[in-house]
Amino acid sequence: MFKKNAAIFLGVILLISSEAFSQATPLSKARPIPGKENWQAAIPLPGQEKAAAEKLAALQKKTGKKPNIVWFLIDDMGHGDPGFNGGGATIGAATPNMDRLAANGLKLTSTYSQPTCTPTRSAILTGRIPARTGLTRPILTGDKLTKNPWEDEISLPAVLSSAGYKSVLTGKWHIGELEGMRPFDVGFDEYYGYYGAEKEISQEFDKRRYPDLVLDSFKLDAYHKSGASKDLVYGKKGGKEQLIKATTSVEDMAEADQVLKDFSIKKIREFAKSGEPFFLEHSFMKVHTDVWASKKFEGKSASKYPYKDGVVEVDAIIGEIVSELEKNGLLENTFIFITSDNGPQMDAWPDAGFTPFRGTKGSAWEGGTRVPGVVYWKGMIKPRESAELFDLMDLYNTTAAIAGAIDKVPTDRPIDGINQVGFLLADNGQSARDRIHTWVERDLVAIRIHEFKMYFMITESDNPHLMIDQSTITKSGLAPWLFNLYIDPKESRVVGHALNAWTASISAEAKYHAASFVKFPPKNVGL
Ligand code: CA
Repeated sequence: MFKKNAAIFLGVILLISSEAFSQATPLSKARPIPGKENWQAAIPLPGQEKAAAEKLAALQKKTGKKPNIVWFLIDDMGHGDPGFNGGGATIGAATPNMDRLAANGLKLTSTYSQPTCTPTRSAILTGRIPARTGLTRPILTGDKLTKNPWEDEISLPAVLSSAGYKSVLTGKWHIGELEGMRPFDVGFDEYYGYYGAEKEISQEFDKRRYPDLVLDSFKLDAYHKSGASKDLVYGKKGGKEQLIKATTSVEDMAEADQVLKDFSIKKIREFAKSGEPFFLEHSFMKVHTDVWASKKFEGKSASKYPYKDGVVEVDAIIGEIVSELEKNGLLENTFIFITSDNGPQMDAWPDAGFTPFRGTKGSAWEGGTRVPGVVYWKGMIKPRESAELFDLMDLYNTTAAIAGAIDKVPTDRPIDGINQVGFLLADNGQSARDRIHTWVERDLVAIRIHEFKMYFMITESDNPHLMIDQSTITKSGLAPWLFNLYIDPKESRVVGHALNAWTASISAEAKYHAASFVKFPPKNVGL
């Protein structure tokens, strides 16, 4: 399957520019240089790497401790939802906490995720494109995997553990709930959360929206037999899973993010006492459809829609957790990253998020994969904004580097993330990445280099709000579709090979990228 697809897109490229291949050098301010054979090529920027290393060393000298790492991973929040990206109060859901962190940190306006939940969540914890790990699409109720995808992966918490870190995942997991695939089986020291996505859990209680499931005992019984977990559970590395609280109503789900917040705050207090360096991935259930805000946030957005109340709640929780870090004297020694795992799920409209770009969750379009990105580190990051490229997979290497564990990142397999410590920490640092590869399941669908994005396959829908439930994905015609994102950020009109000489350069990159999959074949776990 993969080989056939690879052959198709390579065939397309060869038709366009067979001569250009031999001379094509992807244009760059500085050309990315492959490091070890199987690493994603990075632009060498030794000056800023040295500056970042000096900053980290000075901080460690001052605190006597390794830095902590906190990721806030929001589910399905659109690029345009937070105020710092032009949304917020303007679209009926103010986000003062995130806006304050963005204004005092580094706002990354070109942050890229995978098109859906499981692929992004696995990619950031392995540094690898989902086709390499086999986690190519969301694991849904009833899916039976043929192989444990984690068996031969080296997760970020495992890397950090070897550097003395304790790792905690609070909240949504969505990367396998069978034994051997749970967070506390794959490297996290502790897990407290719900394995699945909000709707996967709440649908069996919501008789207004899913009467054909909730009120039909035959269907409900079949649903239960699928074995999907819906409860709040806890697990410790090497231990057994414990039930914390059964989920029995939509009201339970409405309070889920408050319960998760309490756990993260408890862990922060414990770590402050023990002095151990920690990695906390706080993974929200919100604002994945279907959204019910916590009782105390109902109607708290100007919009009054549940999704918007959910945005206000998520923002308040981020504020509370950051404030807890400050109260415990940890803020100056904690790297904080805020993002979303994919674009907004517009299939849920009108109770849905917002992106100014074309497409939605599930598609390779900018709307599906360009997400909010904020780095905050009090005293360590000069407040600024950058439109240079950051792939969420870069969090793998970057986090390992901040923890002093970059030498523990495996070198026996392709790692697609890049160490971006210099970009994030050096004053006016530049991205070591000038290209993004966007995959949808088992296909390389698009490549962005600088402001140009080229599509080998196209996701379309008669209804632009139904990019998941009513879309098709087809191979482009003779020429891949090429857009200039500076003059056409909504990707409305191709510049194509007729107007642009970059076609050959991006095509050459596709060939280089595909070659790693020939040498290291993609993994199939039955998704
Ligand atoms: Ca998601």
